[in-house]
Amino acid sequence: MKKKQLEIQLESLESFPSPVPELEQYSTPAPVAAEMLYLAHIRGELNKVCDLGCGTGILAIGAALLGARVIAIEIDSKALAMARKNAEKLGVDVNFVRGDVASIEIKGIETVIMNPPFGAQKSSVGDRPFLNKAIKIAKIIYTIHNVGSESFIKEFVKPCQVEMIYRIPISLKRCFQFHSKDLKIMQADLYRIVCD
Ligand code: SAH
Repeated sequence: MKKKQLEIQLESLESFPSPVPELEQYSTPAPVAAEMLYLAHIRGELNKVCDLGCGTGILAIGAALLGARVIAIEIDSKALAMARKNAEKLGVDVNFVRGDVASIEIKGIETVIMNPPFGAQKSSVGDRPFLNKAIKIAKIIYTIHNVGSESFIKEFVKPCQVEMIYRIPISLKRCFQFHSKDLKIMQADLYRIVCD
């Protein structure tokens, strides 16, 4: 499947029915998800994949569309129900599991793909438990973080290698009440982390 076709398919997925601010629930936009997945796919790194905090499933489903075997973890049952519906809609098989990334046990994974909470909300767990789990279960991690996180990530995942591979323009439609503007433009960075 070409990148553009992937993007079009992912564009058709439903997002969070009622986003929970504390869980920092926002979906990765389809063009960003397609770009991220394709970067992993062309490197041959999209085979045995885990999506940590899968939300409504865009990354997990996209990986499955590109031929990966995928397990996807999410704490929120409403989001997970939507993710299952989304996978069914596109006719892909993803193993969706309800659980907390901090405590779940997963084996046999090559690559983690994730867009974790950034820690923008005081009550949010932030990205640490996600990075922690990712480096325990996988050799390769594709993950999205706030611009300016590079030195923190490098220190946190030591001795894994960290590479910022893509600066992502993200336009967020108004989805939470505390967003004052209707359209918020922001940037984030896609990192590829490799652990031996
Ligand atoms: N990966 C999705 C969603 C990103 S938003 C996408 O790219 O569109 C971050 C997701 O992490 C939310 O769905 C949130 O519910 C989930 N989450 C937050 N804390 C979690 C935890 N401790 N364990 C599992 N999932 C969690």
